[in-house]
Amino acid sequence: MFAKTKSKAEPKIEYYLRSLTLHIIRQNYKIESENAAKTKLSYEDYLLRLVEQEVLSKIDRSINRRIQIAGFPQLKRLEEFDFSYQPQLDEKLILELAKLNFLSEAKNIIFLGPPGVGKTHLAISIGIIACQMRKRVMFYSTQQLTQTLVASEVSGNLSTLLDNLSRLDLLIIDELGYLELSKKTASLFFQLVAKRYEKGSMIITSNKPFEEWGQIFQDDVVASAILDRLLHHSYPFLIQGKSFRMKNLLNK
Ligand code: ADP
Ligand code: MG
Repeated sequence: MFAKTKSKAEPKIEYYLRSLTLHIIRQNYKIESENAAKTKLSYEDYLLRLVEQEVLSKIDRSINRRIQIAGFPQLKRLEEFDFSYQPQLDEKLILELAKLNFLSEAKNIIFLGPPGVGKTHLAISIGIIACQMRKRVMFYSTQQLTQTLVASEVSGNLSTLLDNLSRLDLLIIDELGYLELSKKTASLFFQLVAKRYEKGSMIITSNKPFEEWGQIFQDDVVASAILDRLLHHSYPFLIQGKSFRMKNLLNK
């Protein structure tokens, strides 16, 4: 039954598995059938093994696809984050947030602090966990986001873009405050924040304390309208510890 020579059934099996895109079963069914014969596995258990392998690989692929689509600049894991280096950061709360309940409550996370303290790392690692939980996630630097908003307005696609962005489970906006935004851009940014308000979560990182956000948006009224909505249901973290980049330099 499990002879090495090609059986008559083989081309048909291969054809059907290929058309059903069951590539893992197609790859593994022969070797698994030989193992099943050796270990006297039942037909049912043999089928179960194959189906499980296919499902696991599909889950993996769908997660990888989500991570790719999200556009993270690097892949950083929460397990790689050394909380002992930022002792004032509430590790328990971060680990609680990593369970992602904040997403269903449409709450925001805001990481404030000087360069190198791990704001982007934390934002990415929570984003990756969300991808693993099959959430729709996008990561933008503020510059990428504002360029995308402006370009879509110019081409008349702003409302489609805002609709798409408001449908995400998690929108990450990195490095707010490194560049000042023009009045026009600030108003587009406000429209986005207003659209997601109480509907979907955001993670925002910034090197500027809230008091200086008026300067980022060059307009105190717009800045406070944005802050009002962002902060209403939010977890703000001020990370004031040492730069991890400096640690690496000093260790060299
Ligand atoms: P920020 O966004 O606050 O400027 P990053 O998140 O980009 O800082 O961190 C700078 C570098 O240091 C990254 O490579 C990041 O992975 C690493 N890093 C920062 N803080 C930690 C930490 N506490 N544990 C491990 N790596 C860290
Ligand atoms: Mg950063």
